[in-house]
Amino acid sequence: MTKKKEIAIDLNSNWEFEPAPESTAHIKLKKKYDLFIGGKFVKPKSGKYFKTINPTTEEVLAEVAEAGQEDIDLAVKSARKAHKEWSKLSGKERGKYIFRIARLMQERAREFAVIEALDGGKPIREARDIDIPLASAHFFYYAGWADKLEYAFPNRKPKSLGVVAQITPWNFPMLMVAWKIAPALAAGNTVVLKPAETTPLTALKLAELFKDAGLPDGVVNIVTGYGKTGAMMVEHPDVNKVAFTGSTGVGKIIMKAIAGTTKKSTMELGGKAANIIFEDAPIDQAVEGIVNGIFFNQGHVCCAGSRLFIQESVYDLVMRKLKDRMQNLVVGDPLDKNTDVGAINSKKQLDVIDKYIKSGIAEGCEMYQPEGELPKKGYWCKPTLFTNVAQSNKIASEEIFGPVLAIQTFRTVAEVIAKANNTPYGLSAGIWSDKGSKVFNMTSKMKAGVVWANTYNKFDPTSPFGGYKESGHGREGGVQGLEPYLKFE
Ligand code: NAP
Ligand code: MG
Repeated sequence: MTKKKEIAIDLNSNWEFEPAPESTAHIKLKKKYDLFIGGKFVKPKSGKYFKTINPTTEEVLAEVAEAGQEDIDLAVKSARKAHKEWSKLSGKERGKYIFRIARLMQERAREFAVIEALDGGKPIREARDIDIPLASAHFFYYAGWADKLEYAFPNRKPKSLGVVAQITPWNFPMLMVAWKIAPALAAGNTVVLKPAETTPLTALKLAELFKDAGLPDGVVNIVTGYGKTGAMMVEHPDVNKVAFTGSTGVGKIIMKAIAGTTKKSTMELGGKAANIIFEDAPIDQAVEGIVNGIFFNQGHVCCAGSRLFIQESVYDLVMRKLKDRMQNLVVGDPLDKNTDVGAINSKKQLDVIDKYIKSGIAEGCEMYQPEGELPKKGYWCKPTLFTNVAQSNKIASEEIFGPVLAIQTFRTVAEVIAKANNTPYGLSAGIWSDKGSKVFNMTSKMKAGVVWANTYNKFDPTSPFGGYKESGHGREGGVQGLEPYLKFE
């Protein structure tokens, strides 16, 4: 008799490769999702719903409520009411709820991961190994801080802000929600959160989990809708803080909308990171880092290493190895555990990426894409690189948010520092070198919130993440991520 193999969820180990694809038979999606307000799913007063689709198949997964002004008023009211009790709970009690959420998410990690892959197109391997375990780790981490706020901010008498409006993007739907909700709750705030329109399903699943965790009604309210709904949240007079992750363009609109009010804000915005390969770098490791830097999550990553700088003396070697590696990347069904590059999140985003690829060609850059067919249905883009790129080219200066790499060369340290910092963004950077002194010199010179050395796209709840310049302000993660959710006497 054969025994069915159990899949264990272990944060510290990689998942085993199993026969593909992942079954969706056990995933129960509702046909229609309402708004989660005051601890209940309620029909939108607007009466409107929109469709969320699977970008791999272009099929409709579910209909989701579109919150209008009346709905936002109700959600904010419910959060305000809940804040009275929630903020009075001891940190230890709040922590218990947050720990419970973390544990439940861990138990249901598989379901969350599959929904994430279905709704957003990301490879199941990434959703299971990275997104969901990290989301749960954020709840664990901030649960631990809930009763230690006085210790974290000694002699400053930390107090919650009140009602927080949180708006998240579609690239790491569950993870960005965790980055927002966990510190807000630990600090004693209540929340109205809006996930992005193309990927609302894991946030709505999380609402079900909140009910199971017994989280008091109204402490977190989840409203769905388009950008218009987000704007209503931002402009609501009874909101104390706006926590936004998304594009720099929308970030600027939000900052204008709250100018002159007492609302606080944190802005996690776009990026155009430099990933720098020195001649003394461990080259094979660096090539893996380049691939991870730009093709992880289809390049839909704010801190993606989208500008690659290679020192001239190793240019030919790196390019040969990089092209070989790209030829082996599996592009296709996100539910297949062998897939490296999944579907582009939406038709709209695919059009943006295609426009940039065309502009790269029109500006005289040289394009390389690996051979192979893309699936006929769904939204796809081959891993793409451009050489013969100038600093002024659009593909080298604007955020593409897709699997497209712009490659330049350099000779000296001073030259690469100048080139790397020549951007309005300042979110992240990567340095590859075997020489410690060079690494330390470079990390201090990069105008970026996060600098990785001999690795890339590594995240941990204990370490703060955030940008400089047009990449935003405020930090998420670490004790620094608690501060923007508190006021001090
Ligand atoms: P986006 O278009 O700016 O949207 C982000 C969120 O804002 C979505 O929920 C969106 O709703 C909502 N929104 C749109 N217009 C709004 C308005 N006028 N007022 C209030 N909310 C509004 O960004 P995206 O395309 O979803 O995400 C990609 C961007 O996010 C990239 O630029 C990326 O770099 C950035 N990002 C930054 C970080 C970071 O930590 N720094 C992390 C991840 C992503 P709809 O989706 O329903 O329109
Ligand atoms: Mg979708």
